[in-house]
Amino acid sequence: MHHGGKPRNMGRDDGDDAMTLSQSIFAGNVSKLIRYINEQGYTCTFGEAWRTPEMAEIYAKRGTGIKRSLHCERRAIDLNLFLEGKYLTDGNAHKPFGDYWESLDPRNRWGGRFNDGNHYEMREAI
Ligand SMILES: [Zn+2]
Repeated sequence: MHHGGKPRNMGRDDGDDAMTLSQSIFAGNVSKLIRYINEQGYTCTFGEAWRTPEMAEIYAKRGTGIKRSLHCERRAIDLNLFLEGKYLTDGNAHKPFGDYWESLDPRNRWGGRFNDGNHYEMREAI
C-alpha cells in the first residue's frame, strides 16, 4: 500500500495514531451502547459499520448518503433495533439510546438529530 502524504486517515487502521485511537474509543463506546440497549430489554443487529469511499460516493449520487461520511472513517454505525423480536422501523425508537450514546463522549452524535435514527457516530471535535 502506498503511504504518501495523508492529511487524513480515511478508514485505514494502520499508521495514524490519533485516528486509530479515536476509532478504538468509538468501538468501545459501541460495545457500551449495545450493552445498554440489551439492559433495557431491546436487542439489536449490525447494519452498516465501515463503508468504503467508493460506496459512499455511490450513496451520495443516489442521494441516500454523503460522500464524506464518518462511516468511511470507522466512526459510525447503523444499528437495527428490535423489541420482543419485532424490528422497530421508526427511528424515534432509538431516542433513549441516542441520548445515552451522546452521554458517553462529547464527540458522539445520534443520527436522530438529523433524521437518521439508527445511525450513531463520533465526530472529530466537540
Ligand atoms: Zn449511518
